[in-house]
Amino acid sequence: MLAQLLKDELSALGIQTVDIDENGYLMATLPAHPDAPPETPVIGFLAHLDTATEMMAENVSPKVTENYQGDDIVLTDAHAEAEGKAVVLSPRDFPALLQYKGHTLITTDGTTLLGADDKAGIAEIITAIEYLLHHPDIVHGTIRFAFTPDEEIGRGPHHFDVNRFAATYAYTVDGGPIGELQYESFNAAQATITIYGKNIHPGTAKGKMVHATKLALAFQATLPERESRSPKPTQISLCAGFGFGTVMSLI
Ligand SMILES: [Zn+2]
Repeated sequence: MLAQLLKDELSALGIQTVDIDENGYLMATLPAHPDAPPETPVIGFLAHLDTATEMMAENVSPKVTENYQGDDIVLTDAHAEAEGKAVVLSPRDFPALLQYKGHTLITTDGTTLLGADDKAGIAEIITAIEYLLHHPDIVHGTIRFAFTPDEEIGRGPHHFDVNRFAATYAYTVDGGPIGELQYESFNAAQATITIYGKNIHPGTAKGKMVHATKLALAFQATLPERESRSPKPTQISLCAGFGFGTVMSLI
């Protein structure tokens, strides 16, 4: 639905090659400038169509704060404030706000999700395409761009057809402060490891009982430090070794 709206908008801009595949992935092309050398690599830009699912994302009514001065922004209206239900966006909680003094900030009004993740990415890509269309003096190679579903549920890349996209290099425009470029990401692969200790009657356990926790800690210590700083804690279920063979704890 959203992909279809964007397809219509892109067609109205003059982008002729816009396709939406059966999985809802929109892909489009801005052809190379006639003066671009033929070896110019195809550059891709991506953004995701879906927004976070945790908050209400319908009937969004953005709040615009012009010439932001670094103060707290009361998102909700005076009525909510009178009831003590004001929602405040404060640099105390989000120090990065102070980098945007003098800017115009677009935020939620505190009642719904804003959804700038990743509507802002889509708007930025379309604005860039529009700019290039209106400035034929800028020489550029072929630009491919794609808007994808299901990023917020971790399935954005699952049906992304890399060959169909056919970009030599590509950038995802999604979140992050102005000027930040991320060139690598953690691997969110998951493994469930169950570690069994050795349970023995305490009377004869000396030198024989093996505690599952100690094994888990030894295993954890073998993971290369640089490659195992996962944003989520390592989870290992521990069975037996001490107690009666039940799961004992999670690290
Ligand atoms: Zn995002």
